[in-house]
Amino acid sequence: MFAHIQAAPADPILGLNDAYKNETNPNKINLGVGVYKDEQGNTPILQSVKQAEERLLTEELTKSYLSIEGTDNYRQSVQTLLFGENHPIINKKLAHTAHTPGGTGALRVAAEFIKKHLPEATIWVSNPTWANHQAIFQSVGLEVGSYAYYDASSKSLDFESLLASLSQIPEGDIVLFHGCCHNPTGIDPTKEQWQQLAKLCGKQGFLPLFDFAYQGFGVGLEEDAQGLRTFAEQVPEMLIASSFSKNFGLYNERVGALTIVCETADNADAAFTQIKRAARTNYSNPPAHGAAIVAEILSNKALRSLWEMELQSMRTRIHEMRGLFVSTLRSKGVEQDFSFISKQQGMFSFSGLNPEQVSQLRKQFGIYIVGSGRINVAGMTHENMDPLCSAIAEILT
Ligand code: PLP
Repeated sequence: MFAHIQAAPADPILGLNDAYKNETNPNKINLGVGVYKDEQGNTPILQSVKQAEERLLTEELTKSYLSIEGTDNYRQSVQTLLFGENHPIINKKLAHTAHTPGGTGALRVAAEFIKKHLPEATIWVSNPTWANHQAIFQSVGLEVGSYAYYDASSKSLDFESLLASLSQIPEGDIVLFHGCCHNPTGIDPTKEQWQQLAKLCGKQGFLPLFDFAYQGFGVGLEEDAQGLRTFAEQVPEMLIASSFSKNFGLYNERVGALTIVCETADNADAAFTQIKRAARTNYSNPPAHGAAIVAEILSNKALRSLWEMELQSMRTRIHEMRGLFVSTLRSKGVEQDFSFISKQQGMFSFSGLNPEQVSQLRKQFGIYIVGSGRINVAGMTHENMDPLCSAIAEILT
């Protein structure tokens, strides 16, 4: 029964990580998978997380199942992070949130919910987008299309083409936006551009689905939510897939959430029962530990301010690495202009390196970058910057 099965190709990003582990070059550098690294190249457990875990360890009374949607405390905390304190959506109970295993779990539940209740809808993703988006939606049988986003020649947002693309999307389809820190380009719409996009969404009648995996990695917790909050003012319905893998460093705890916003509280109640059904037939109920940490941190003043400081220091370090990367390349005599990298947000940049150059970096120097040229800026440190930039200078000249 199994003998005919062909091996699946390695995941373009996680497969790269496996290859990196087997790399024998002692000076190897990993700028592939999207994981934050500190100055020592480690992915540390945040202090706020450690302290929350200590409390949970002494206070936890049971390992019994959570409900399908997770705990109320966690779900409310997620909504406050998304919309801000006392937002009308929260006060009028227009949104419901389910705790899901990571942002991927949220996207998967969203996909199943969409397939069942809006089966004719096509889901539109930016070109380019996170490598897993297409696969998640296609795996439930949804049609996936792409809209214009990035201008490779100017290394910036092609806003005119983006508007033109979205103007073609019919009522009833779904458009996925990256809430902030667009993966892989690191380029987000400005405040004014978000306003235009939200207005267009209202006019065209498509449903926005926000993938919000990097809140706090761009400018700040509030600022990074500006896109989805702008939409929330203009359109009555939306879906939001949150991930807390990066901003709490809880990668392997699988903490995420799917939030649905409806026009009325009754609609939200009814639709949420269907989201719970999708979760029940998928993983039944979510893993407790990571979400309990998030809820503990967000509901405790001291832990929350410690977390915000830690988040800020991750954000600042990445930003510093962006600037250092650009100036070090320049100091190595690279004439190509890389200054766009210091203007981008979040962990990633589209470097503009082509697949051949990416492959050369890997073979000659043990430097691992995703084939598309996406680099994880958080993998750079003061120590690896010099060899990294020397290698890039060598392949570019
Ligand atoms: N969405 C985007 C844009 C991502 O970059 C990621 C992770 O890299 C995810 C979703 C999934 O996050 P999680 O690890 O919580 O499943």
